[in-house]
Amino acid sequence: MRHQPVRLLILGGSSEASALARALAGKSDVAPILSLAGRTLTPLLPPIPHRIGGFGGIDGLVDYLRHNRIDAMIDATHPFAARMSAHAAAASVGSGLPLATFTRRPWRPKPTDRWTTVTSLDEAALSLGSTQKRVFVTSGRLGLAAFLAAPQHHYLIRTIDPPAPADVPPDNRVILARGPFPVNQEIDLLRAERIDVLVTKNSGGGASFDKLLAARALALPVILIAPPSRESGLVLHDLAAALAWIEAQRGTP
Ligand code: NAP
Repeated sequence: MRHQPVRLLILGGSSEASALARALAGKSDVAPILSLAGRTLTPLLPPIPHRIGGFGGIDGLVDYLRHNRIDAMIDATHPFAARMSAHAAAASVGSGLPLATFTRRPWRPKPTDRWTTVTSLDEAALSLGSTQKRVFVTSGRLGLAAFLAAPQHHYLIRTIDPPAPADVPPDNRVILARGPFPVNQEIDLLRAERIDVLVTKNSGGGASFDKLLAARALALPVILIAPPSRESGLVLHDLAAALAWIEAQRGTP
């Protein structure tokens, strides 16, 4: 059993990472540091030490782990952050440090849901079809340029930070807002905007499922972008399991 606090690097940018940070705040047996990529212009800062910005690839991450005497890593990045996850897996192998992934399960449709799963934003844009539609897009501000290939549609785009103007298809309305968005509010929005179809990422978890509940309530079709596959390894799906894994790291030399 180690006497020093476990020096834990949390790769963040997700609600799981934020929940873990809140749970670890004030604990004396863990010295956590939350790492954020710096994509969000006004991130919600955690109640634990944090750093912002890329590491400079796998080698940069390995250097960071060594220089900061990190004992263990938790990959709590968003399910779509495939590159950071791959880097964490490679750095864990390279440095011999324990790594666990703390993430959510993807959403699953009910038999009556009208969900179409695609593997990319390009495929999502294509699957909207040629007939003009009113499309609600909540896939994030990056990658919106995929919809330039389908300019016949009207797009209602909701993002936290403004998208690059050049990425946005011509017939659009952009809403800048940070969730959560309760289901009744989502239903009102879908109705008021006369939305025909929702396009979103299958990010899983509870926080942003309400838009899918709203689409379900209105029997609207949904185009869901599937998450990229991740490296296998230890995957934890709830906070208690993540905390137990961190606790177990105290027993390792
Ligand atoms: P990505 O493609 O997997 O990562 C690209 C690069 O960004 C990484 O190689 C790394 O740079 C840096 N990076 C990513 N996460 C980092 C972190 N937690 N700390 C330090 N550097 C990080 O990631 P992404 O899809 O662009 O997402 C960026 C961040 O936004 C992630 O932290 C993710 O959790 C969060 N996020 C992503 C989405 C999404 O849909 N993709 C949605 C919500 C939140 P270096 O190679 O220089 O180390």
